[in-house]
Amino acid sequence: MAGKLIIFSAPSGAGKTTIVKHLLKIKDLKLEFSISACTRKRRENEVNNKDYYFLSVDEFQAKIEDNAFIEWEEVYKNQYYGTLRSEIDRIKANNNNIIFDIDVRGGVNIKNQFRDDALAVFVMPPSIEELSERLASRGTDSEKKIQKRLKKAIYEMKFANKFDKIIINKDLDNALKKAEEIVREFLNN
Ligand code: 5GP
Repeated sequence: MAGKLIIFSAPSGAGKTTIVKHLLKIKDLKLEFSISACTRKRRENEVNNKDYYFLSVDEFQAKIEDNAFIEWEEVYKNQYYGTLRSEIDRIKANNNNIIFDIDVRGGVNIKNQFRDDALAVFVMPPSIEELSERLASRGTDSEKKIQKRLKKAIYEMKFANKFDKIIINKDLDNALKKAEEIVREFLNN
């Protein structure tokens, strides 16, 4: 069964990207990553049109005008992120299921639009302290940015009850196993 939507949302640093990357390696799940558009700067290890479609704010706004997004958010000030309609069509045409790594509000938005065709999973960090340490050790963001992300994370945790499933990422191996189990169950139903 293809064309189903699997959404992973979490406060950043909770480990959702690691989980999504792991699931993408399991070939029989037939998952394909929904490449979001965003206006933040590309990080050194990222590839344009693979990790994100990196756009200028003007380009992004033009797409909003064209109604090209199924959802978009200003995740941080002047940093827009959004899911393009064309992305869903592209992946469905490939006969694959679509996996999303998107922010909490975007996740709830897509779940509300696609209902039973979508599985929304919230990845919960084991604690705020641990989340803070993870963000710092990732080494990609400044102290100011880390504080900004942390404050947002505390706000975002309140949305967990709007998701179909919650995975607490305390032990990564367990979280990966749980994620695979949840996705399999959804795809088989
Ligand atoms: P990062 O800048 O760390 O790659 O992502 C910041 C946040 O934006 C993450 O929570 C990420 O999941 C989220 N994000 C990525 N793509 C989208 C999208 O298309 N829509 C929304 N709403 N959030 C997104």
